[in-house]
Amino acid sequence: MNDLFPAVTTSDLAARAAAALTPNYRPAPLVLVSGKGCRVTDKDGRTYLDMVGGIAVNSLGHAHPRLVAAIAEQAATLIHVSNLYINEPAIAFGEMVKKVSFADRVFFANSGTEANEAALKLARRFQAEVRKSPHQAGFLAFHDSFHGRSYGALSVTGQPKYHHGFEPLVPGARFATFGDLDQCRAEMSDGKVGAIIVEPIQCEGGINMPPPGFLEGLRALADDHGAVLIFDEVQTGVGRTGTWWAYEHTDIVPDVVTTAKGVAGGVPLGVMMCNEKVAAGFVPGSHASTFGGNALATRAGLEVFQVIEEDGLLENARTRGAQLAAGLEALRVAHPDKAVAQRGRGLVQGLELADAALVNRVVDGCRVAGLLVNAVQGKTLRFVPPLIVSAAEIDEALVTVGGVLAAS
Ligand SMILES: *Cc1c(COP(=O)(O)O)cnc(C)c1O
Repeated sequence: MNDLFPAVTTSDLAARAAAALTPNYRPAPLVLVSGKGCRVTDKDGRTYLDMVGGIAVNSLGHAHPRLVAAIAEQAATLIHVSNLYINEPAIAFGEMVKKVSFADRVFFANSGTEANEAALKLARRFQAEVRKSPHQAGFLAFHDSFHGRSYGALSVTGQPKYHHGFEPLVPGARFATFGDLDQCRAEMSDGKVGAIIVEPIQCEGGINMPPPGFLEGLRALADDHGAVLIFDEVQTGVGRTGTWWAYEHTDIVPDVVTTAKGVAGGVPLGVMMCNEKVAAGFVPGSHASTFGGNALATRAGLEVFQVIEEDGLLENARTRGAQLAAGLEALRVAHPDKAVAQRGRGLVQGLELADAALVNRVVDGCRVAGLLVNAVQGKTLRFVPPLIVSAAEIDEALVTVGGVLAAS
């Protein structure tokens, strides 16, 4: 490790990264080398309070002792055997997911994109093979959504900037405005839509909240048309909003939920869970993943879920989330010329600023001041800290953002 990365400067490393890796990222000039709890440390020994959490991934923070021990023990026992055989961590974690959700059945993948890919494929096959309704191959999705970067997930992502240069996409996707049930009804009126895919909170799209009754209305529309209702909870799932799943804030239950990001605390793992009816769309051989459900990733997922349960982290997400929301709203009131709106639920919170240039200055200013935050949709600051975040850490983040905002 130390031989690979001797004592060179951050700018040397940034240059090596830029020369060796494909040019599809624009990283901040920051080389992070270690972390503990809600703090990360860079190559120069500076420590930052982490309100990005690996983009809602590090649900237990960095180097959580229980997760570290579980991964180490599992790695020394059995990492991977393939789905040609059964492994015990996958069973235990699948049962855990069922216990804390509506699901009857669970499929393991390796990312949010892949979980969504599984959901879209399951929905089409369910229509074609179980409902004998192959003409219902269409997907209804939403403008400003984000579902991932594979061709299927990208094709239902309602942001043209992600499509640019990649066409032709998978046929069958159509889009409505998030919150507009009349438009959804119109888009479904030709009877060709077999699945609706929606984020219960649009996260990458700017932390957009669903209007009251919208998600319930989608359930009713899906029922009217025999369509599968898929909630993409890749970012909102696993306690982020203060309940295990964001659908619990509604009166309805979807047919399929996908999750990933925080599910195994940073070990790659995607989950597609569904009810018994829709699960019948898959038969042996119809879908698979070599890595999916391997013993290491599912052991990590199990430990994350157990810690969330035993350490009361859903409650923490609610109270710390309320504290963060109130603090961001106070910043909006204090800086009405710079901060436009506060939105979110639990520990997914956004502060929309007046313009993109201001957001970039604030993100950079916060980093210089020792706080990591990032921006979504150009002008909204996003806060998705670990679920273990403390009251003092939330206060510290708010003070830093307030100071930087005042000076920007
Ligand atoms: C991040 C995200 C994805 C994609 O997940 P990956 O693990 O990057 O493939 C899909 N949907 C939502 C809502 C996300 O936030």
